[in-house]
Amino acid sequence: MSDSAPSTPRVIQVHPEDNVAIVVNDGGLPKGSLLPQGFSLIEAIPQGHKVALQDLAEGEPVRRYNVVIGYASQPLVRGSWVNERVLRMPTPPALDQLPIGTLARQAPPAREVHTFEGYRNADGSVGTRNILAITTTVQCVAGVVAHAVQRIKTELLPRYPNVDDVVGLEHTYGCGVAIDAPDAVIPIRTLRNISLNPNFGGEVMVVSLGCEKLQPERLLPPGSIPIRDEHAGVDTLPGLDTVCLQDAAHVGFMSMIDSILRQAESHLQRLDRRRRETVPASELVVGVQCGGSDAFSGLTANPAVGHATDLLIEAGATVLFSEVTEVRDGIDQLTARAASPEVAQAMVREMDWYDRYLEKGRVDRSANTTPGNKKGGLSNIVEKAMGSIVKSGSYAIDGVLSPGEKVQRKGLIYAATPASDFICGTLQLAAGVNLHVFTTGRGTPYGLAEVPVVKVATRSDLARRWHDLMDIDAGTIATGDASIEEVGRQLFEFMLDVASGRKKTWAEQWKLHNALVLFNPAPVT
Ligand code: CA
Repeated sequence: MSDSAPSTPRVIQVHPEDNVAIVVNDGGLPKGSLLPQGFSLIEAIPQGHKVALQDLAEGEPVRRYNVVIGYASQPLVRGSWVNERVLRMPTPPALDQLPIGTLARQAPPAREVHTFEGYRNADGSVGTRNILAITTTVQCVAGVVAHAVQRIKTELLPRYPNVDDVVGLEHTYGCGVAIDAPDAVIPIRTLRNISLNPNFGGEVMVVSLGCEKLQPERLLPPGSIPIRDEHAGVDTLPGLDTVCLQDAAHVGFMSMIDSILRQAESHLQRLDRRRRETVPASELVVGVQCGGSDAFSGLTANPAVGHATDLLIEAGATVLFSEVTEVRDGIDQLTARAASPEVAQAMVREMDWYDRYLEKGRVDRSANTTPGNKKGGLSNIVEKAMGSIVKSGSYAIDGVLSPGEKVQRKGLIYAATPASDFICGTLQLAAGVNLHVFTTGRGTPYGLAEVPVVKVATRSDLARRWHDLMDIDAGTIATGDASIEEVGRQLFEFMLDVASGRKKTWAEQWKLHNALVLFNPAPVT
């Protein structure tokens, strides 16, 4: 809370059309507290909980995020505590009766021109970092690749100062898996598309074992690597550059390491010749997700990310939001924002696929709000889902990706992924993000080696305690020191600085790199 006026009653109305606001004072507010809106609370209300901003008749819709989160089950006067006991749940939307496109709103073009300094790639994409990635076909080679990466970093990288890093794309897939199962397409295309992430400059090199199920040609079939631009003075399409450890030519461990170093050097030479150039902000491909959430996630950090999303979409950029299980119960809100019936149908297809995936695991998807959620002020699953969906801003949803697919168009994209932080991040890398934004309330040191991860704290006390891990403090929204729009704008500008390499995120500073975790819904053998 703000040091200047620790006891001033404060509530946040997330959307101007809302008829409830959220109490943000530590410890909540006692009965009789006079709100800045000019009326008093008729009862005590805990922190994170809702107060009625107007008299509500029985049956009247209660709106938060400009969405009906329930109906008053009894008359409620202004200043009342609105909680799950006085709210009737809205009927959950059936997947075959969803509104389509009724709320789709196209973004107006940005009033100012925004740019950043990026690395333009032959396929038209733009990198925010200049990284040599070493793709692997199977977990068996991970130790050898890690050894080689260490030697490349110490012996080769100092000679190529324009290259930011060398990353081994380690994973647990590749063998001992049912590689012809229909759902094996997901982990395979995820690995393929990660190796083509814009931050790797189209320099694909592969380390393979030799006998694994996922052969290099299956991972990266001919034609999957974009042809290089001859006019830029670089080679035309090379064959797949693969170091195979079981090759008869390899005698001893050191000969394998020598092969990897020799191959890596030719890629480093090309990457080192690249320079940043000024490109429009429309070349940003930003993945957003949340993790370690708290009652303030949907109140401060996620709405601020939502505003930054709107600014990115106005600038013509691409934003991906994900996390199926977090948005499932607000699916009617997403189909209502679909730019076309096809987009709405694709979203329904992804929800339906995931429903069946969970059923197979005999998981109860009535996965309702937990007692902790309700204690924190989230009355029901609709309200919880909206707290996550709000990261997607307010504009029309232009496209949908299945897990592991690569984004093919600009605009606001729903990229279907599990909510698991590591799996969501891995699938967003495959989708082609060049920047990642992560909100957290409880706190997580999450980071990726492949793209910068900007972390947004929901509360100022987390931002203070984790001052060298959190990049943006959205808690200033709760203290009244900043508006949602101001923090959203601050985040947007920070993204342009990070994308340009002018600033580093804390996760980059400390090299906090979480593992790639593939989503493999297919059987292992
Ligand atoms: Ca997550």
